[in-house]
Amino acid sequence: MNIILLGPPGAGKGTQSAGLVERHGMKQLSTGDMLRAAVKAQTPVGMEAKAVMERGELVSDQIVSSLIDENLAAMPGDQGAIFDGYPRTGAQAADLDRILEKNGRKLDHVIELGVDVDALVERITGRFSCANCGALYHDTANPPSKEGECDVCGSHEFKRRPDDYEETVRTRMDEYRAKTAPILPGYEARRIVSRVDGMGGIDEVAGAIDAILS
Ligand code: AMP
Repeated sequence: MNIILLGPPGAGKGTQSAGLVERHGMKQLSTGDMLRAAVKAQTPVGMEAKAVMERGELVSDQIVSSLIDENLAAMPGDQGAIFDGYPRTGAQAADLDRILEKNGRKLDHVIELGVDVDALVERITGRFSCANCGALYHDTANPPSKEGECDVCGSHEFKRRPDDYEETVRTRMDEYRAKTAPILPGYEARRIVSRVDGMGGIDEVAGAIDAILS
């Protein structure tokens, strides 16, 4: 099973991907995570991507498609892939078709997480994670049970993504509207698009996604 989770930043793609990995043993291929790792490791790709990401703009198609190509090729053929935050442009959608075909895979579902844009800005600007284990939290929707302490590992260090501040978030929304939303009609023509209301609770959204995959 190969699926794309599509939706504007903050729609819950990362959270839902993590759930799918746990429930179905699929692998999450998040170009955002790959790029953040490259920035941290100061690789040439990371050096090129850093400033673009901090502005909330899109990194070049060639860079992200190469990352997906490498990561997919390294996966066992029978493990399902979740494309999270990729493709984001028409050129990337075409690249993905080629990459899947090369690996003997096909796209089964494109799941669009529908959300209200103003609520999203609140969602994104409130999110943070444990600096030690990466567990995800939110100021209002999902704070740690004990303030200032990670539920998973007990660490007291937290961090926020540098691109989760309001102005950058607006730019990322604009990029989604202008460049990513237009790839949907192509998938609709292939009858593989399903819509899920992404404003529901985490478990509710997960249930709706599982119903599509079953
Ligand atoms: P994300 O974690 O998916 O929201 O990605 C964070 C940032 O990484 C985006 O705002 C872009 O700057 C960059 N990025 C991630 N995936 C892509 C992609 N498929 N195409 C272009 N840029 C991307």
